Amino acid sequence: MRVVIAGAGLAGLSCAKYLVDSGHTPIVYEARDVLGGKVAAWKDEDGDWYETGLHIFFGAYPNMLQLFDELGIQDRLQWKSHSMIFNQKEEAGKYSRFDFPDLPAPINGVAAILSNNDMLTWPEKIAFGIGLVPAMLRGQAYVEDCDKYSWTDWLKLHNIPERVNDEVFIAMSKALNFIGPDEISSTVLLTALNRFLQEKNGSKMAFLDGAPPERLCQPIVDYIESSGGEVHLNQPLREIVLEEDGRVKNFRIGGYKDQPVKDIKADAYVSALPVDPFKLLIPNSWKDLEIFQKLDGLRGVPVINIHLWFDRKLTDIDHLLFSRSDLLSVYADMSVTCKEYADPDKSMLELVFAPAKDWIGRSDEDIIQATMNELKRLFPMHLLGTDPAKLRKFKVVKTPLSVYKAVPGCQEFRPSQKTPISNFFLTGDYTMQRYLASMEGAVLSGKLCASEINVSELNDK
Ligand SMILES: Cc1cc2nc3c(=O)[nH]c(=O)nc-3n(C[C@H](O)[C@H](O)[C@H](O)COP(=O)(O)OP(=O)(O)OC[C@H]3O[C@@H](n4cnc5c(N)ncnc54)[C@H](O)[C@@H]3O)c2cc1C
Repeated sequence: MRVVIAGAGLAGLSCAKYLVDSGHTPIVYEARDVLGGKVAAWKDEDGDWYETGLHIFFGAYPNMLQLFDELGIQDRLQWKSHSMIFNQKEEAGKYSRFDFPDLPAPINGVAAILSNNDMLTWPEKIAFGIGLVPAMLRGQAYVEDCDKYSWTDWLKLHNIPERVNDEVFIAMSKALNFIGPDEISSTVLLTALNRFLQEKNGSKMAFLDGAPPERLCQPIVDYIESSGGEVHLNQPLREIVLEEDGRVKNFRIGGYKDQPVKDIKADAYVSALPVDPFKLLIPNSWKDLEIFQKLDGLRGVPVINIHLWFDRKLTDIDHLLFSRSDLLSVYADMSVTCKEYADPDKSMLELVFAPAKDWIGRSDEDIIQATMNELKRLFPMHLLGTDPAKLRKFKVVKTPLSVYKAVPGCQEFRPSQKTPISNFFLTGDYTMQRYLASMEGAVLSGKLCASEINVSELNDK
């Protein structure tokens, strides 16, 4: 089958990859001049990379890891020690670690939690451990059922002290969905905790060894093209043109930078757009269908990714760090954690600024000023005193509508990859799969979408 896919983020590329594996011919049209969507990155005037987001790969990402294997690029994942490292709130410049010993799950997770005495007291650890029992015993059904509660409400329901939120989960929920625990659905935290506690290496983290468009997306494109598929940049989907019976007649593509608009025909059509731009393209006659109506309940959350190049080294920690700062979420010294960005003498901090709703409209200079003020607390030894480290340059990448905001109740709005339109399919991290809005979710949704297209082909025969 010839399948046209709009969008070359991880979901669109994964869908195309698994379609060629089944003998189909996918043709991908991407609106922008760069691959990867939310993993897109660019080079600045000095040749230094800057990215849409600081991206971490987890041991609990089976579909993503399988994709790396299938592409033969497993060695591009730089695995870090099995730990979670938080900045100490009260002691500037100090860290608190959860170290997972080399034992089977969940013993390694329990040992990591019990052996950390900086952040949680024993009564808090016990209350939290008891609260998690239903999630571990009843699994995903319980986790999905908890979508009606915010994380803060879930903690209250289980008599877990508010301090547990302040110490650990403000940082975790900002890392997972760029919002705080009062806003985030408890399904998100429980899904992550379940994976981290039930899989030995679930919470083990890896950094890609370079920029995602070159090191991850391009190998997928090469794979697709070597099997007869095509990937085109600068070719936005403009309109979904319908037959009289409501099925798709063609995708109207192009019209960018003086290029002509073309009507592209295929046997099946896929939207791999994020949910917000897709909603703008839903044809009028589809708008009453429940699957598309429900998308009104999904909306992207703002987030800002910051890059700071300093004149010296601020840290030698080869890992992701949870800042526990009001304005910032996770960060890493990419000059240490990422091979292609390595610099033995100077740090490049990449930081996620979240929640960003009050900052997304502010100037880059205001955002950098606020970030530097927060960093003085994290790195007082380098940024205060008589000879403070100098900021050589910075880049700010704003994404006003990023992954869907995972507030309570929104699981039911997430669509399946199959739609009531027999020749039209959806993929994207917001579509229903068990990994929420993540790279793993995007790759899995692409794979599920490709298998729905296979099923539809069999049904047509
Ligand atoms: C700051 C940040 C940090 C993150 N950190 C992590 C992390 O550590 N770990 C993790 O697993 N996930 C992380 N994520 C989430 C992850 O990046 C996304 O879940 C995933 O990349 C989404 O992939 P997607 O293909 O569903 O959507 P997208 O990547 O948004 O792809 C959609 C594509 O469609 C294109 N498009 C839009 N309109 C059109 C049109 N009209 N025609 C054609 N193409 C169009 C877009 O340009 C884009 O390329 C992070 C995200 C951000 C923003």
